Amino acid sequence: MQPLPKEYNFAEIERKWQSKWEEMSIYHYDWNDRKRVPFSIDTPPPYPSGELHMGNVLNWTYFDMVARYKRMQGFNVLFPQGWDCHGLGIEIQVEKTYNVRKRDVPPEQFRKWCMELVEKYIAMMKEGILKLGCSIDWTTEYRTMDPDYWRRTQLSFILLYKKGYMYQGTHPVNWCPHDETAIADAEVDYVKRDGVLHYIRFPFEDSSDYALIATSRPEFIPACVAIEVNPNDERYSKYVGKKIVVPIVNRSVTVIADECVDPAFGTGVVMICTYGDKEDVKTVIKHKLPVIMLLTENGHINENGGKYAGLTINQARATIVEDLTAAGLLEKTEKISQEIGVCDRCKAHVEILERKQWFMNTRKLTDAVEKTANEVVWYPDYMKNRLIDWAKSLDWDWVISRQRLFATPIPVWYCKNCGELILAKENWVPIDPKLENPHVEKCPKCGGKDFTAEQDVFDTWMDSSITCAVHAGWPDRADWKHLFPADVHPSGTDIIRTWAYYLIVRHLALFNEKPFKSCLINGMVLGSDGRKMSKSLKNYAAAPEVLNKNGADATRQWAAGGGATGSDIPYRAQDVEYGRRFLVKLWNASSFTSKLLADYKPDANAKLDLQPLDKWIISKAENLTKKVTEEFEKCQFNIAVEDIRNFTWHVFCDYYLEAVKDRLYNPDLSGTTKKLAAQDTLYQVLYRILQLLAPVAPHLTEEIYQHMFKDYKGFESLQVSPWPTFNAAIVDEEAEKNGDMIIATMTAFRNFKAENKQALNAQYSCLTINTGSDEYAKILKASFEDIRGTLKVNELIITPQKKPGGRQISPYDMYFEAKQ
Ligand SMILES: [Zn+2]
Ligand SMILES: [Zn+2]
Repeated sequence: MQPLPKEYNFAEIERKWQSKWEEMSIYHYDWNDRKRVPFSIDTPPPYPSGELHMGNVLNWTYFDMVARYKRMQGFNVLFPQGWDCHGLGIEIQVEKTYNVRKRDVPPEQFRKWCMELVEKYIAMMKEGILKLGCSIDWTTEYRTMDPDYWRRTQLSFILLYKKGYMYQGTHPVNWCPHDETAIADAEVDYVKRDGVLHYIRFPFEDSSDYALIATSRPEFIPACVAIEVNPNDERYSKYVGKKIVVPIVNRSVTVIADECVDPAFGTGVVMICTYGDKEDVKTVIKHKLPVIMLLTENGHINENGGKYAGLTINQARATIVEDLTAAGLLEKTEKISQEIGVCDRCKAHVEILERKQWFMNTRKLTDAVEKTANEVVWYPDYMKNRLIDWAKSLDWDWVISRQRLFATPIPVWYCKNCGELILAKENWVPIDPKLENPHVEKCPKCGGKDFTAEQDVFDTWMDSSITCAVHAGWPDRADWKHLFPADVHPSGTDIIRTWAYYLIVRHLALFNEKPFKSCLINGMVLGSDGRKMSKSLKNYAAAPEVLNKNGADATRQWAAGGGATGSDIPYRAQDVEYGRRFLVKLWNASSFTSKLLADYKPDANAKLDLQPLDKWIISKAENLTKKVTEEFEKCQFNIAVEDIRNFTWHVFCDYYLEAVKDRLYNPDLSGTTKKLAAQDTLYQVLYRILQLLAPVAPHLTEEIYQHMFKDYKGFESLQVSPWPTFNAAIVDEEAEKNGDMIIATMTAFRNFKAENKQALNAQYSCLTINTGSDEYAKILKASFEDIRGTLKVNELIITPQKKPGGRQISPYDMYFEAKQ
């Protein structure tokens, strides 16, 4: 056997295997294979946002461990990679980079800039993913901004429209005044901010009395359509039905009663404005109140604001407060802390606007979503409640149209004459209705020949919420159901409400089937101090730096071992360093083993005279295999990594390797079956360690495999070697128990030497072990040569005598005495 080089050069090894694996094309999914069972990973196409960050490292390590583990188990693994290109995030970056707003330049120019930026970001992220050593099938790579992907998004829309899931409506929607677009509930973040509560007098029409109203948004007074009190509030029930004058605009509105009003908030009298918040929307619908739209799309007051028209929201608030003060209607102000909704991209305060939009009626699927969530296996299980709670909490349908540019166009036109909607036919897509007319002679309703294109575009989640079907080959492959539903959809705790939810509603509506069989959740990566990682908190770690410094295998160990699946994981440099020390230890142990095996040739038919310690570690390796397999099955990566590392470091390196060294060096034994038994055990156990560790640390394990095992095992790569199957017949509980006692004996004497500041190989003339029982003596005597050789004693006496007083061999009631 050829010896392993002494030095472990991770940078060189990792680069080498990353390109060799690609050459071998072992990660290629075989579309025609009908023998192996397929296993499809619904890799969420990431939003290109620049370089890979530690959160990406965490989730790609998860996907990749699953892919590698399943591949070794013999599955035909599909590990695809796409890029979710469209959307606000990129548009905002382009606006910043070129210091423009979307309307300042021709749309074609703006889109070109977006595409260039996306390509730049994809290149950066891809470099990181390659460096991490992910076993992706790059022949599957796709971009949602490509017309061929538009085709899929547009087709899914056409099918859902025909099924009655898509509708247009004028409803209140969340609106980002900065980005000037509608956004979905899932894109609204809630943050705590300081605000001011203004106590304002609203005079009654027929008396000199007034109602005191507390509001944090006095700028909405011009849009006030009613005053509301709780009918059970004794202070105010007498007001119900009375007319009240809205200050500033001098319009009268009615006091209405609703049990939803919280008598304890503010004064217990509230103004209903269209729309100050989501509660207002509910009240307007319930009481059939009129609507006064006050805001423009870019967050200014419109003509309904009278003299305040043209002001920004903040300017209007200041001016109205001034006017109220001057009129003597502002009684007092009070500081409050309030929770407000902000745009998850630009952090602008989200307003509510009523505008014609496209919706998918997702809420009618809520029961089906709950049923599906219960059918799916979640890792960890409790995460399914996040999805169910979210689905049930939704007040509004999903608004799927956006007033932006860089997105998939909605394939719809309108007849200029009669307004008839013309939906693209399934074979027209991909199509941009702004550049192409519908492929019809005339309007089917009135015969008109002029059309206008739908100006709105799709929410980017419309692209990325059909990936389970797209990855399987829909709509082009007749056999796409072979890979559908996906076996696993990986998701982060932060995107369950978007990614997992949208995937489920889209696929349920389109195919009446769940999109994935299981959902693997990763938590967020926190800074080393346990706080959210951010550059300003100085607890930020850049993934490229971490990877360059420590290599992929060490970094992956941090990701796999940093915490329970689904929990938030702090990034600690010392965890990655520990991973690296472990790899060095394994490398050195393998290098040493390769020397001990210089004259060894594996022979399956050799008769082995297995010694108690050989049986001990063989049985332990078998039990480890069982445990690690179960842990990978349950996606408990952190426990698997810990178990493999403990076994390797302690059982294999510290104990076994030390305990058989003497047997292998002993010239008297050369050529005997006892030596061969140790060599064979070392060989088989090291191979087992490499296999179990292969999904976590693929590069180092491959390098060792190629040097020491490939010639005999014959697999092109360790990554395609069959995952070891647990064999209960190999487990030998008695051998494990006996071995533990032998190891304890050796450890006790070695500790004794260490305490006396002696080298471990310090020679002793006599060692007497008083076991206190015939049974124990028999066990130790069975390993007489291993004990004597390892402990460097000339004369070893093992007696069943009970003789406390010497040094104890913990945790047994055995004692030893030594003479130098
Ligand atoms: Zn925004
Ligand atoms: Zn028409």
